[in-house]
Amino acid sequence: MNNKCNKFESLFIFSDEKALEEHIKVCPDCRAEYERMNKVSDLIKEVKSEFKRPKYVALKVACMLFLFIAGGVGIQALDLQYGFLDTVKYGEPLTIEDLGLPTDDYGLIQVD
Ligand SMILES: [Zn+2]
Repeated sequence: MNNKCNKFESLFIFSDEKALEEHIKVCPDCRAEYERMNKVSDLIKEVKSEFKRPKYVALKVACMLFLFIAGGVGIQALDLQYGFLDTVKYGEPLTIEDLGLPTDDYGLIQVD
């Protein structure tokens, strides 16, 4: 006949820590159960550090998005002022004639 003690679960859940510790001192079954549970707990603590999320992920993503948008807007604004993107693409800044619009002798758009 197996008379294994089954108080551990109820003591662990419903009783305070002192009552559990006192029972563990006198009962070998519950002591073995307690040590097994501590081993699992230590394993979880050990593995938990491997899965820690890196800090400030949202802040880093927000900074990258801001730099991306601000950089794009900045380049467009500079291109509007100096037209350097046309120079990069075609070797020289584009004129109105290059765009295929009708111009007069001064290079201004000709309107009939
Ligand atoms: Zn027990």
